[in-house]
Order: sequence, then structure tokens, then C-alpha cells
Amino acid sequence: MAVGSGTQAAESERPKAVICKECQKAGLQSRVFVVGSSMTLAYTAPFYDEKGNRHVHDPNATATSYRCDNGHEWSESSRSSCWCGWPEKKESKS
Ligand SMILES: [Zn+2]
Ligand SMILES: [Zn+2]
Repeated sequence: MAVGSGTQAAESERPKAVICKECQKAGLQSRVFVVGSSMTLAYTAPFYDEKGNRHVHDPNATATSYRCDNGHEWSESSRSSCWCGWPEKKESKS
């Protein structure tokens, strides 16, 4: 009696999924709650380059803490990046 639920919604416009890795490993399902988030430094204002293109070179890491239904806690830190490739691709002027 396998119940086939073949719902595959296109989620291209959703923010990235957050799934508890511990529950995933154990084959469990859980809801994940954001416990809190913190910025390491002050806000960095975006700027416009010589061609008028908007850049956001924000070196701050945002740490977000999560907790799932089954009591697992973890945190992730994410760095913002710019369309120009910053910070991986440093501006090279030669
Ligand atoms: Zn979990
Ligand atoms: Zn940039």
C-alpha cells in the first residue's frame, strides 16, 4: 500500500531550504525554527561604481541559530557576496 505523493513544486523563487541534518540522517522529519541571528559587524552601505552599477561589499558574516522539533540545535554563518564576484574575485587593476 504505497501512497504515491508525487508533488514536485518549482521552488525557484523560495529562499534556500533549511533542513535539520541530524533528522535527515536519522530519516526523521522536523520543523526548523530560527532561534536567533546576529551580525558580526556594523552595516556596510552599498556603493555604485564608475559605471553606476550597484555593489554590496559587505564583509559581515551573519550567524543564524536554528533549532528543530526534535531538539537538535546548530548554527550557520553566511557571508554576503556581490554580483561582481566579490569577495572571491578581488578587483584586479593592472
Ligand atoms: Zn533535528
Ligand atoms: Zn561588487
